[in-house]
Amino acid sequence: MREPVVIECDVAVVGTGAAGMMAALTAAENGAKVCCISKMPFHAPNCTTRAYGDMTWTTHRTRDELVRQIVQTGGFLSDQSRVFGLALGVPHVLNKLRVLGVPLDEPRPAGPGMPGTVRWSYRGTDAGQEVLDRIRAGALAHRVNFMHGCVATEVLTDANGEACGIAAIGLAARQPVILRSWIVVLATGGGAGIFARTDNPPGTTGDGIAMAYEAGAELVDLELISFGYPEARIRDVLERGEELRDELLELGYAHYFLGGARVTYSNETEVDGLYAVGEVSGGVFGAGRLGGSALADCFGGALSIHSWVNLEIERLDRIGVDDDEVQAACDRIETILRGTTHPAPLQERIREICWRGLGPVKTEASITRALEELEELSPEIAFCGGASRDDIRTAVEVRHMHTVAQLVAHASLERRETRGCYWRADYPEPDNETQLRNLILRKGKDGPEVTSEPPRLDRVKEPTTPRIGAGCFGYIPRETPNAHQG
Ligand SMILES: Cc1cc2nc3c(=O)[nH]c(=O)nc-3n(C[C@H](O)[C@H](O)[C@H](O)COP(=O)(O)OP(=O)(O)OC[C@H]3O[C@@H](n4cnc5c(N)ncnc54)[C@H](O)[C@@H]3O)c2cc1C
Repeated sequence: MREPVVIECDVAVVGTGAAGMMAALTAAENGAKVCCISKMPFHAPNCTTRAYGDMTWTTHRTRDELVRQIVQTGGFLSDQSRVFGLALGVPHVLNKLRVLGVPLDEPRPAGPGMPGTVRWSYRGTDAGQEVLDRIRAGALAHRVNFMHGCVATEVLTDANGEACGIAAIGLAARQPVILRSWIVVLATGGGAGIFARTDNPPGTTGDGIAMAYEAGAELVDLELISFGYPEARIRDVLERGEELRDELLELGYAHYFLGGARVTYSNETEVDGLYAVGEVSGGVFGAGRLGGSALADCFGGALSIHSWVNLEIERLDRIGVDDDEVQAACDRIETILRGTTHPAPLQERIREICWRGLGPVKTEASITRALEELEELSPEIAFCGGASRDDIRTAVEVRHMHTVAQLVAHASLERRETRGCYWRADYPEPDNETQLRNLILRKGKDGPEVTSEPPRLDRVKEPTTPRIGAGCFGYIPRETPNAHQG
């Protein structure tokens, strides 16, 4: 049994993309001792480095219009308080990036008196790395402890069910690492990498979504995933999906997880002390999102940390890491380090199952089949692991992917309609009558429990016919509010 390395800090951040890097900087600027880990080596790509760099732009005059655009694009499933928070945060985000020295192009309004987008001035593959390097420099000046090659396996909770740290594996030393902290920030990105076809870089495997669920947090609308697809074939997917199945599965790719950990206006999950920022969180964009809004959400959510760090200080007195819990987490890590089943083929198998059963061309039959096939993999997954860095990281990912894939399947069975980027070949139309609901997943005694709630329409009140499309959506011209756009 390997002894864990134990590190004490105020805030443990998991992830070094836009959300994690900015969260680490903000917490440190507010006086917290921060440890920020990433499972990947320094300068390996993540979704942020791959982003084109378009970001939502608005002034206070166009804020309400931005809220309307986001809510309408999401087919009225958005958490409108989060949308308002995003819109409110945009000027702060752009100002913060400017202060950090990130050059921005001129903003481009979507029309007269409209919000729009602004782009960072870096270009090319992995241009986002330049932005992350700027934020990182600021974070290092505030003594953030970055640990690359350290893969999180689970969120630690205390006897009251409150978050009190992270269990992880240091890949170089093959050693358990315990981060003891009174705030845990999951900033692990989305889960498009559970699909065989994706434009996301390796490692986008939904780890934080699985960890949040296992820790007792709620997930929202996990079935809502954005697939990129040639515009000309979208109707084929919707109307002749099963008939053209093989042909259509050779096209398209998973792009963005719209669902994820359910969080409040200030990115707090159901679990005290556990926050989720960026693509790992869900609910803000409903069933489809405006291009540029993901980065605004990542940076804006992370900047809101200044309010938590000060509010959460009272938790210091009550939390305490339970030794038994740490021991159990270390035992699970030991199982991975001693694992005998090679994880890479299992990872490919999961990605294939997800693409064929839960991807763009799905029906009740394909989802049910996927669930059965995923269940059949359980015994092998329990023994997967290895000795090399790649095998250990992949074995952790396989476990998280397996959880997320099953949860996506459970939620997909419940949403019987087509809305935004969510397409069901057996229910090709939107249904505001019965399906205008958020699906909530939580861990029950006997597996996942799915419930549903109507979204609160407190800012944009009258649901219209939802948009249907692929990838990200453009702004809706004011004259034709229901225009269909890809
Ligand atoms: C090709 C492409 C172009 C895009 N262009 C745009 C755009 O122009 N505008 C826009 O708004 N959005 C765009 N997006 C979407 C946007 O880039 C992402 O939603 C956003 O960057 C996600 O940031 P994040 O910080 O949440 O996650 P990521 O940037 O994906 O970072 C996740 C981090 O978590 C780490 N991690 C994950 N699991 C673990 C674990 N178990 N342990 C430790 N570390 C872990 C990873 O190593 C990584 O550091 C684009 C996406 C893609 C794929």
